[in-house]
Amino acid sequence: MTPLTPSPDWLTAGWNHVWLPYAQMQTAPLPAPAIRTEGSRITLADGRTLIDGIASWWTACHGYNHPHIRAEVAKQLETMPHIMFGGLAHEPAYRLATRLAALMPAGLERVFFTDSGSVAVEVALKIALQSRLNHGETTRTKFLAFQGGYHGDTFATMAVCDPEEGMHSLFAGMLTNHIIAPLPTDPASIAAFDALAARHAPDLAGIIVEPLVQGAGGMRFHPPATLRHLRATADHYGLTLIFDEIFTGFGRTGTLFAYQQSGVTPDIITLSKALTGGTSPLAATIVSTPLFNAFLDTSPAKALMHGPTFMANPLGCAAANASLDLFERESRLEAAHAIGQQLNTELAPLQSLPNVVDVRVMGAIGVVQLKSIENPAALRTEFLRHGTWIRPFRDIVYLTPALTISPDELSHLTAAIGTVLKG
Ligand SMILES: *Cc1c(COP(=O)(O)O)cnc(C)c1O
Repeated sequence: MTPLTPSPDWLTAGWNHVWLPYAQMQTAPLPAPAIRTEGSRITLADGRTLIDGIASWWTACHGYNHPHIRAEVAKQLETMPHIMFGGLAHEPAYRLATRLAALMPAGLERVFFTDSGSVAVEVALKIALQSRLNHGETTRTKFLAFQGGYHGDTFATMAVCDPEEGMHSLFAGMLTNHIIAPLPTDPASIAAFDALAARHAPDLAGIIVEPLVQGAGGMRFHPPATLRHLRATADHYGLTLIFDEIFTGFGRTGTLFAYQQSGVTPDIITLSKALTGGTSPLAATIVSTPLFNAFLDTSPAKALMHGPTFMANPLGCAAANASLDLFERESRLEAAHAIGQQLNTELAPLQSLPNVVDVRVMGAIGVVQLKSIENPAALRTEFLRHGTWIRPFRDIVYLTPALTISPDELSHLTAAIGTVLKG
């Protein structure tokens, strides 16, 4: 992409040194230089503003720079920006753990903080495995995960992602072999899943799933009944059921957490992305009491050996507490519902376009699925030209806006999608 005005110095100098995410650096276009954010707006160095349709990888649920979060983080910055979590305690983390436990289903009350979603999932997998090792059970080491699933980019999490459609097929031979199944959503896939689970049960430690929506795998939806089937299967074979709510958490699917729509209590829930309202990196692995109890012993060898340097960073915890204040004080779930209705109304007409195979909405997620996207980069440039920040990937154009976006801003986004797709 040719920038409209000369790029800032820092961009042209740094371009030779920065390595971008998920990018072929030989052909990657120069990224758009952002200098300020506010609400659902991103200001670029050349003065243009964009309306953000994806809330910075699904994190900025209250919009950018929310004054309450900013004030709470500023206060924390004054007193104690960071302190190690080993041997020292601080109020933001202990308060946050107490509040998160209160939001979880009964029995999930132990919170392990980390600094990214992938690591939160790593910790969940480690807990599922070690809780068995601590009981002397060494043979059940595999996880049942799902096609279309995404749980992170680290080596343990790559192994529970979709092996083909994921971004990690290159590493297939180097990863732990887990069992990757189609989600059980109809009689045929349920029967196939049951047979697979029965066959592999002696090797299985747990099941990991993104509840209701597989995000990075293409915003694919499945019904709550699927989650109930996974719970029943986990109970039948004694497996640890992990709900990865890193994308679905904090109102995105219309309830505060996706598990609430299923009535299912998993054994572990992972959170990140919108946990701090998009302010700073923080993640949490929230664990059931029986699993936690499997680590209680007089032997230090049975302790959970994990401890990221920046775990429970006080700035992140202050931001997360402030974000929870906002969910308590303001009507975010009603807003998610209204966003969903508007997305339905405004995206539904696109169903009739020749290249569109599906339009679907859940909570504050709107998806237009195409037959294929030949040149995602060109499409992204088109959206930039329309003053929007929309990032098509795989075969979808989607919106996951801040829950505070205004109806006018949202209409601007859906109109841009209509205009660009009509070409
Ligand atoms: C983004 C995501 C992750 C990984 O989180 P990172 O912070 O990028 O490591 C894991 N699981 C799900 C469902 C995600 O959407």
